[in-house]
Amino acid sequence: MEFEIDRIPSNGLDFDISVNADEFEIKQDDCFLEKPVAVKGEIKLLKKEVYFKGKAKADLKLICSRCLAPFPFLAETNVSARFIPKPKSDDLEMERQMLEEEIDAEFYLHSKVNLTTSVRDAILLTLPMMQLCKKECQGLCSECGQNLNESQCKCGDNAAIDPRFEKLKQLKEKLQDKENN
Ligand SMILES: [Zn+2]
Ligand SMILES: [Zn+2]
Repeated sequence: MEFEIDRIPSNGLDFDISVNADEFEIKQDDCFLEKPVAVKGEIKLLKKEVYFKGKAKADLKLICSRCLAPFPFLAETNVSARFIPKPKSDDLEMERQMLEEEIDAEFYLHSKVNLTTSVRDAILLTLPMMQLCKKECQGLCSECGQNLNESQCKCGDNAAIDPRFEKLKQLKEKLQDKENN
């Protein structure tokens, strides 16, 4: 998502575009982006600084934290970014200092600003802490793995007489008897 600074008119550049999903590289264990992202907004050039203010809309696929089923999630967010020219010298110390002072700014190089990172970060910030396919998701059975949203399993019925627990209980009782005698 690159914009050439020389092409930004003095009164700013309005745009409304659809950006290929590949550009954002959102492929995590529990979050995927496979559809184009709608980005619109305005880029302004003030002296050497570039400002972007806009909105992004992404159709994500998330994995439910409880039942592990994929479900769609529409991320709609405001995005803003500020870019300052990267210092010409290879002075890393100066770069570090500049970034410390300009904490909300990104560098740009070769008269081009790239909005991809800003848009990507804003999209990822919209993700909920707990990703649930629905509020009342029943999750998976911890014994057999059955998706309890689809159907109930028989594990709950047998829990009370799980033979392993029964043996442990007997052993504990025996030990207690010994202690008491
Ligand atoms: Zn779920
Ligand atoms: Zn089960």
